[in-house]
Amino acid sequence: MMDAILHHLETLRDQPLWRAPPEALRVRFREPLPQGAASLEAVGQTFLEAILPYSSGNAHPGFMGWVQGGGTVAGLMGEMLAAGLNANLGGRDHMALEVEQQVLAWTREMFGFPAEASGLFVTGASQANFMAVLIARLRALGPGVRAAGLAGAPLIAYASRAVHGCVGRAMDMAGLGAGQLRLVPTDAAGQIRLDVLAAAVAADRAAGLRPFLLIGTAGTVDVGAIDDLDALADLAAAEDLYFHVDGALGALGVLAPTLAPKFKGLERADSIAFDWHKWGQTPYDAGFLLVRDGELHRRTFASEAAYLTRAERGLAGGDWWPCDYGPDLSRGFRALKTWFTIKTYGAEALGRVALQTCELAQELAALVVAEPELELLAPVALNIVCFRYRSADADGLNAEIVADLQIAGQVAPSLTRLDGKTAIRAAIVNHRTERRDIETLVASVLALGRTSSQRRVA
Ligand SMILES: *Cc1c(COP(=O)(O)O)cnc(C)c1O
Repeated sequence: MMDAILHHLETLRDQPLWRAPPEALRVRFREPLPQGAASLEAVGQTFLEAILPYSSGNAHPGFMGWVQGGGTVAGLMGEMLAAGLNANLGGRDHMALEVEQQVLAWTREMFGFPAEASGLFVTGASQANFMAVLIARLRALGPGVRAAGLAGAPLIAYASRAVHGCVGRAMDMAGLGAGQLRLVPTDAAGQIRLDVLAAAVAADRAAGLRPFLLIGTAGTVDVGAIDDLDALADLAAAEDLYFHVDGALGALGVLAPTLAPKFKGLERADSIAFDWHKWGQTPYDAGFLLVRDGELHRRTFASEAAYLTRAERGLAGGDWWPCDYGPDLSRGFRALKTWFTIKTYGAEALGRVALQTCELAQELAALVVAEPELELLAPVALNIVCFRYRSADADGLNAEIVADLQIAGQVAPSLTRLDGKTAIRAAIVNHRTERRDIETLVASVLALGRTSSQRRVA
């Protein structure tokens, strides 16, 4: 099985990026609960024949859909060893927690956070953003909110219209209401409009509401725009707002010295959500939340339970129990695959990959601009390019092009909508993507656009 998965990774470029799972195969999987045993070899064989060839393709060099990382062999080894160890990182006294704390320490170093900052692995930035909303809620209302609930407190949060959908859902799940998140318009660069933001905060205060949380985005999901984080930090300080940054796709850009200046102000955030499984190239899943005020973080989640009593000595010792810092009690060893990735390749290499994907995005944008049949739909701030094939029925045509590309299995962008227009969105995240992949993308979009337009005219 190990040989087969390594061979798979070595030959990715020769395989189709994606194949629709055949119906017969799906049917073969639908079986009653197996009562008896099967040989591990036979089960592994089923994986190799029926699951591996029909994966979602994000490890493939031509994958540019959504925003997904490519994974690495070091990460694979870390994940395999973690599974063998079967550690539970909810707490207690064992070396695995030392590894997670080491990654936390590196994270503090990367973002210029103080020694008392806390943090931990979570599934992804969706969960990290949700936890940040809960921390901000506790900061605004005090620890009593955990027992009493909101009791009608009119808390209002602010983010740009380009904020990821998980933030509205986080407000919903926190009991605050998605409707209490003000979505502030963006400017031509995709950054939050500071004038409109300041006016909205003032208007809400005047109306007797209670602004409590400002969320900046470091890399918007549609176009990769980075809010003016320094200006947001100033406003948050002046208005006594908790300042959280959703850096899911962008924050690890600080590892590239030439990209780092774009993130100025990130070091002033009260918390940062980001994903090692995107630009960090760690296998799924590996989200992270970093919190400046570790004590506020702990007070938001820690609970007492007799069966979790800490001891002076023995296995129930240890002074860092991650279950005090998030909603999960049992937790896997996500830290190991991330630690393997960072140790094996080094932070500089991760930064070089981030920079390389941004350079490819600039090259792609230049290829698009050079083709009169194509239209660039947004400025390229980081590693995401939104464009489309020009046509009278551009929305329908570009949606068809993207589906055709995914089915052809060489390069796979995804779709989004910008200012009411359907856009082909190429997010270059994978370390395996090369110049020839973006050339293939442009050539294929042109070819599909031309045949499709001719068919439509006919
Ligand atoms: C990917 C992404 C998220 C969601 O992160 P998950 O790891 O998928 O939960 C949130 N915000 C932004 C900006 C993202 O790019």
